[in-house]
Amino acid sequence: MRKVPQVRNRKGGSAMGGEAGGRAIGRVLGRLAKAYPDAECALHYRDPLQLLVATILSAQCTDARVNMVTPALFRAFPGARALAEADPGEVERLIRSCGYFRQKARSIQACCRAVAEEHGGEVPRTREELTRFAGVGRKTANVVLNEAFGVPAIAVDTHVLRVSNRLGWAQTQDPSKVELELLEITPKRWWGRVTLLLIHHGRRCCAARKPRCGACPVLADCPYGRREAGSS
Ligand code: SF4
Repeated sequence: MRKVPQVRNRKGGSAMGGEAGGRAIGRVLGRLAKAYPDAECALHYRDPLQLLVATILSAQCTDARVNMVTPALFRAFPGARALAEADPGEVERLIRSCGYFRQKARSIQACCRAVAEEHGGEVPRTREELTRFAGVGRKTANVVLNEAFGVPAIAVDTHVLRVSNRLGWAQTQDPSKVELELLEITPKRWWGRVTLLLIHHGRRCCAARKPRCGACPVLADCPYGRREAGSS
């Protein structure tokens, strides 16, 4: 049986964990699923390689911007080998508006080279293999595993980090630790959806500066929101 760690609240008491904690988290996720029935990956892609490239491009950049540049990029260089062998200046030109374009171009081409030469042109399906690629950390690997291959995985971005801390599900700013805590306390059936639900909630309601707690569907289960409501 999985050992469920106790996540501590600010006073040191147990906030989550165990069956009751799992039920509470399931209740919150159920409400978020109702509130955001359209919570899907916003990046446009046709295959795992395109998703991998789009996810690399999305670092420090909006999904909408990535979606503007990828059609031309994939049209010009379809497939791992074509992208790997492309003129670096041309790749940079096509992705320039996504920011950090030199570094991203290098990562994309190195990834594509590895996919073409070491994996027969197919994106590998394990986190270990994916995170060996240039520019691919756990977050990117988890996005690809979850979205492209249906492997349940939790990708912790800035929204997931913020919302899970406010909800009292995690108490650290370290994304790797938050991922492990979420995996421990979230009922398994939600593993594949928790990332997108928290991202959508973070974007639409639980904003970094001014969370709209008064309109939040999970206020009753949120220690941060209840504290804010009590202090106003
Ligand atoms: S109650 Fe406020 S802080 Fe809590 S999840 Fe909702 S919006 Fe975020």
